[in-house]
Amino acid sequence: MSLDEKAWQAARERIGRAARAAGRDPATVRLLAVSKTQPAQAVREAWGLGQRAFGENYVQEAAAKRDALAGLEGVEWRLIGPLQSNKAALAADVFDAVESVDRAKIAERLSAARLASRPPLEVLVQVNISGEASKSGVAPDEAVALARSVAALPRLRLAGFMGIAEPTADVARQRAQFARLARCLSDAQASGLDVSVLSMGMTADLESAILEGATEVRLGTALFGQRPATVEP
Ligand SMILES: *Cc1c(COP(=O)(O)O)cnc(C)c1O
Repeated sequence: MSLDEKAWQAARERIGRAARAAGRDPATVRLLAVSKTQPAQAVREAWGLGQRAFGENYVQEAAAKRDALAGLEGVEWRLIGPLQSNKAALAADVFDAVESVDRAKIAERLSAARLASRPPLEVLVQVNISGEASKSGVAPDEAVALARSVAALPRLRLAGFMGIAEPTADVARQRAQFARLARCLSDAQASGLDVSVLSMGMTADLESAILEGATEVRLGTALFGQRPATVEP
């Protein structure tokens, strides 16, 4: 497959427009390219366009891509999919950041496995902002407490929060859910935690997320086109 450079340009422009509409500097919104199910070659091509941060949902898939692309300089791998505790040790090796930490046990395993020779693993606490029972993430009321536990672990560096809004075209609902995540960040800051990252917004709802303060949007479809069908593990 080959990357469509026009789609990339369009996605970047979309982020810029959304930021300006929100009265924000576009440089304050970072683009995470969600490369799950895309071949290593697609990551290589994106890298050629200047992209460095990539989001993956499955630990083994990311490990294989990281190995295949070991020569590419400056690539940052971020886990955005749910993490099972039996994969935490591998994840602590493969990734530069884990955005999907939703319980203390996972955080403890990541910290225990992260090698002392590497920088601390960046962690975002995933919050269930849609309230859907099927979705992962800690309840919003428990997010700051979990963030505190993460911040206390020696081999982790707490950076902020990640959330996924309910799939809905209702902009008011999207915004209310993203605003809830933004409140987790401000509550955490008010309680003395050094956090600044709000990872929220995907292809369908990035404008709402940027209006509510997203510092990172996670885009797959907007960049790479429709994902090939895949078997979820
Ligand atoms: C797949 C995925 C994305 C990207 O979604 P698109 O709609 O393709 O932009 C973002 N965040 C998470 C957590 C995902 O699993």
